[in-house]
Amino acid sequence: MIGPSITVRRQRLEGLQKFLIDHHQIIKDALYSDLRKSPQEADLTEIGVVLSEIGCALKNLDNWMRPRRLRLPLSYLPASASLVPEPLGSVLIISPWNYPLQLALAPLVGALAAGNTATIKPSELAPATAEILSLVPHYVPGVSVVLGGVEETTALLTQDFDHIFFTGGGAVGRIVMEAAAKNLTPVTLELGGKSPTWLDSSVNLGAAARRIAWAKFINAGQTCVAPDYLMCPPSMVDDVVAAINNAVHAMWGKNPQDSHDYGRIINDRHFERLLALKPDAISDRNDLYVAPTVFAAENTTHDSMSEEIFGPLLPVIGMELAEAIEYVKSGPKPLAIYVFGREAKKHFVEQTSSGAVGSGVALLQAGATGIPFGGIGASGMGAYHGKSSWNTFTHMKPVISKPLFPDTLRMIQPPYSPLKTAII
Ligand code: NAD
Repeated sequence: MIGPSITVRRQRLEGLQKFLIDHHQIIKDALYSDLRKSPQEADLTEIGVVLSEIGCALKNLDNWMRPRRLRLPLSYLPASASLVPEPLGSVLIISPWNYPLQLALAPLVGALAAGNTATIKPSELAPATAEILSLVPHYVPGVSVVLGGVEETTALLTQDFDHIFFTGGGAVGRIVMEAAAKNLTPVTLELGGKSPTWLDSSVNLGAAARRIAWAKFINAGQTCVAPDYLMCPPSMVDDVVAAINNAVHAMWGKNPQDSHDYGRIINDRHFERLLALKPDAISDRNDLYVAPTVFAAENTTHDSMSEEIFGPLLPVIGMELAEAIEYVKSGPKPLAIYVFGREAKKHFVEQTSSGAVGSGVALLQAGATGIPFGGIGASGMGAYHGKSSWNTFTHMKPVISKPLFPDTLRMIQPPYSPLKTAII
């Protein structure tokens, strides 16, 4: 075995588990303070996701750590070869503010299971959660936490890590990759973008609208895999807007500002950015509240289509399926595509490229340990969760062994002869 023993790795994972259990309430309070995240959502989308990643790693570690025997061609024999898992070394994890606990600790689970040491740089825009995260090293040896923003991250990026795992926007992703290139450090980039959603009349409108509304407006729309915009046949636009509004009322009431379950925008800058995209959205600056806002957008030139929305604004654009597919294909590859339509699923899966596809459902691909989570093209590179995290943070090192005698290699070594040439 290379790197820490299975016992040490288990202890580290159990230490992280204990951190989450000991600080359960404090973490929820921090998430409420940073994002007005409801305690239930904190459990479902943050703490619960990390605990299930830990559970998966603890259950499978023994199996993952076993060397894998490789098959060799007959001409190599006698010989044997195997893949021996090796930790990458020291890993830097840079995380964003929208799921500030989950996106710092879910990658950490993979890094620890694989036997690495890790440095976490939480987002400065979720300061209460960042403060709690700085306690992790007391529970898990081999982990350090650096608090700060651009300056501190820039300094970290000059250091020689063995892997950088970055979650955030594409602009900073480019900065990270450029800095990593100087040290030839490999990167995983979990980025964002506009995840399109298609809905047509072949599915139950009310049921689909509820799933779309939930995935869009959870965490006040500040979710990397939220449906960014919605496309449907032009004749359905008004009905779709009404159905999503009904779903919003059913989940968050007539005035979501009064709901304990509806979040807030992270800060003034993002609040202003969102209002610039949709100036007539119902909002309250003092409370950083932007209402769940679904609206018919005449076409794809609406301001909200110019960038990743990352907030509770949902434009609905009327277009036919073929046009929708062409539109998606013409843009950067999204993190997810959601399809609510019987025939449409096959067309989107086969004709477009994205990190993942959700058919009849949105968001769920991000929460299961059995599903690799990651983007493609502009939405990122690499994947994690469950076994994929292990793969991301492990070098599977081939080790080949051959006895010195009998010396079968002579058959392919000089001096060459017609017989040897025939064998080669
Ligand atoms: P961000 O890219 O602004 O920041 C991410 C991290 O990078 C933070 O820790 C921040 O301190 C650091 N950072 C910011 N500017 C930097 C700079 N100039 N140099 C070095 N480091 C810098 O992202 P964000 O605003 O925190 O998060 C929102 C973005 O993240 C959205 O685009 C969203 O889609 C994406 N996201 C992706 C995923 C995913 O899993 N794919 C998950 C959540 C968020």
